[in-house]
Amino acid sequence: MKGKTALVTGSTSGIGLGIAKALAAQGANVMLNGFGDIEAAQAEVAAVAGPLGAKVSYHGADMSKPAEIEAMVRAAEAEFGSVDVLVNNAGIQYVAPVEDFPAERWDAIIAINLSSVFHATRAALPGMKARNWGRIINVASVHGLVASAQKSAYVAAKHGVVGFTKTVALETATTGVTVNAICPGWVLTPLVQKQVDARAAAAGVSDDEAKRALLSEKQPSQQFTTPDELGALAVFLCSAAAHNLRGAAINMDGGWVAQ
Ligand code: NAD
Repeated sequence: MKGKTALVTGSTSGIGLGIAKALAAQGANVMLNGFGDIEAAQAEVAAVAGPLGAKVSYHGADMSKPAEIEAMVRAAEAEFGSVDVLVNNAGIQYVAPVEDFPAERWDAIIAINLSSVFHATRAALPGMKARNWGRIINVASVHGLVASAQKSAYVAAKHGVVGFTKTVALETATTGVTVNAICPGWVLTPLVQKQVDARAAAAGVSDDEAKRALLSEKQPSQQFTTPDELGALAVFLCSAAAHNLRGAAINMDGGWVAQ
């Protein structure tokens, strides 16, 4: 992927960081985005990219703010000349029964997990079409395919991402731009560790027991998927062999949605 540029939203942590590293390891320039320990994330990706002559940059766009999303895409184009791969990954979670679900949490989840995918795609797609090559990879979730109780906003947003993915895949079907969704099951990232912590506290059990309980409820393999494994899937989606893989929602979920 030398000479190509990937913009990965929410890539200072977890799955986004794993995908950013995997793309950098193929020689792509990477623009990172997200909050938290930005310098550590940049250093991790630069360690992979540097030896291949690829560059790493960062933009602090808040994915709930459409104008900032557009500015980030323009900044990546200005710095590297193009955005060839867009990974829409930023996401948040909130868990509560619908009648107790704070309206502002609903709005934030819809903005960050769903609307940002529209805004970033809308900004990056014209350049991809003009060059007749592009890859849009939307990190949805098994919750884009099936539901779990207490996750109304997240499940609604992720089903929306899968629907949006299919629509844009149809609109680009005769071009060199492919659009697909990745649907992970449980991946042990800070987003999931919070749910493990809540479970351990509620049941008065250890971290390990809470993890086992979480997995055994939904994920038949009883194993977490890793950010590196999802990175490898993203690399495959960027390959020439994947040119006709369009509008798919690929689950990597230890068998979760097979049940
Ligand atoms: P994470 O909390 O480790 O990472 C989330 C990233 O998004 C971070 O870089 C964070 O800074 C960034 N982010 C959050 N709000 C943002 C905002 N307003 N603007 C810009 N960046 C923002 O979580 P993760 O588990 O790696 O999740 C990444 C994606 O994968 C999410 O879309 C999530 O829904 C999805 N997902 C995760 C799992 C899982 O088990 N961890 C499973 C399925 C899908």
